[in-house]
Amino acid sequence: MSEYIEKVLKKIKERDLNEPEFLQAVEEVLKTIKPVIEKHPEYESLAILERMTEPERIITFRVPWVDDNGKINVNRGYRIQFNGLIGPYKGGLRFDPSVNQSIMKFLGFEQIFKNALTGLPIGGAKGGSDFDPKHKSDMEIMRFCQSFMTELQRHIGPDVDVPAGDIGVGAREIGYLYGQYRRIKDRYDGGVLTGKGLEYGGSLARTEATGYGLIYFMREMLKANGNQSLEGKTVTISGSGNVAIYACEKAQMLGAKVVAMSDSNGCIYDENGIDLLTIKHIKEVERGRIKDYLKYHQNAKYIERTSDDSPIWEIKTDIALPCATQNEVTLNSAKKLVENGVIAIGEGANMPCEIAATEYFLEKGVLVAPAKAANAGGVATSAIEMSQNSMRYYLSFEQVDNMLEAIMVNIFKSTQEACKTYNLANNYVAGANIAAFTKLAKAMIAQGII
Ligand code: NDP
Repeated sequence: MSEYIEKVLKKIKERDLNEPEFLQAVEEVLKTIKPVIEKHPEYESLAILERMTEPERIITFRVPWVDDNGKINVNRGYRIQFNGLIGPYKGGLRFDPSVNQSIMKFLGFEQIFKNALTGLPIGGAKGGSDFDPKHKSDMEIMRFCQSFMTELQRHIGPDVDVPAGDIGVGAREIGYLYGQYRRIKDRYDGGVLTGKGLEYGGSLARTEATGYGLIYFMREMLKANGNQSLEGKTVTISGSGNVAIYACEKAQMLGAKVVAMSDSNGCIYDENGIDLLTIKHIKEVERGRIKDYLKYHQNAKYIERTSDDSPIWEIKTDIALPCATQNEVTLNSAKKLVENGVIAIGEGANMPCEIAATEYFLEKGVLVAPAKAANAGGVATSAIEMSQNSMRYYLSFEQVDNMLEAIMVNIFKSTQEACKTYNLANNYVAGANIAAFTKLAKAMIAQGII
């Protein structure tokens, strides 16, 4: 590591000691951009790294709401506007009890890089709340969303900051959030949120975008490494939410056999290949648990999760797609996957692999499609949704999907290009970080000391 990088990391570690996820995200990026820092000694005098790792603004707020029993609850809301260098702040909202400032900052930091890679004019942000949407009635979800938006609306706008969904925030929540925003502002600002319903300004293919994009990226990566394809490959996918479901759909469309999916309680294994219609029914209609799959497919197996190491990574597979949450692939899990012959990892979730796990994969020659590049299809399609809202015009599913595919191919190319320029072979983790960082550093220099 260069002296400058070490100095910056040390300072962040001292200052943000109690933010482990944020430190992890920063460390992962800074470690990989060493060749760029060495090539550009002027970055130190311009304090590029110090400025890149400090959010432009952190907003926290109280979210009071009344549950169905008349009890008053208070949650904490966040919006971290990390960096608006190349466009309006953009990034999802997460509703999950684990949400805290460290997780919000790590996600906001990653989002700047991811958004830069899309080639579209969007800055990086993240937000959410420690509210747990599980086991809440529709009316409770609505009251929470309304209270959350009553404060958030002061800080967002179609040209200012454009939130979207993330864990725990899907079409239902976006609808309630948008309704409250519109009620307060009393004007049409369609582009203020993305992931909207199709009836009121949403984009076709936004629901599918992150999962489909992940598979487009995987397809390019396999092609570039021995002209391989997804056809006939075995795939395991963690999670059974938005990203996991549509990654499964596209992988199956390209001829792969998906044999396992999961939720936070455990995973199902179906050696005949997962029946995605059943998963969609359980998760999108019943809002049930993955275990319910056994009610419809008695031949499948359910494995309960009993430790930090998710049982899904013990299943033999060619391709593993972590699509649930951060740090879900531990070093132990990585070892198990390698032992079972995995050839590629595609990160659908943000920072799903511990740093040691990623390093282990790379050391063992396993291809890694890093989250910032591989799951950027969601935010890219959100930007396409914003464009449609501005144009007051809708594109067809096919048009949006073609644009998404072209963007993912381009992201892979710029990642590969950075790998070539800096002699990184097929270390796409470093390649993606460098491609994004280089663009952001140039924009930062051009805009002066801000
Ligand atoms: P969803 O809420 O739709 O689904 C999340 C899935 O992950 C659920 O199956 C959930 O299971 C599981 N999960 C959540 N927490 C844990 C945990 N601690 N351990 C194991 N499983 C867990 O979220 P998304 O699909 O939208 O997001 C998944 C990941 O993808 C996140 O990392 C998100 O940041 C990232 N991402 C999402 C994008 C999008 O467009 N939606 C874009 C880019 C990245 P359970 O129901 O049991 O909680």
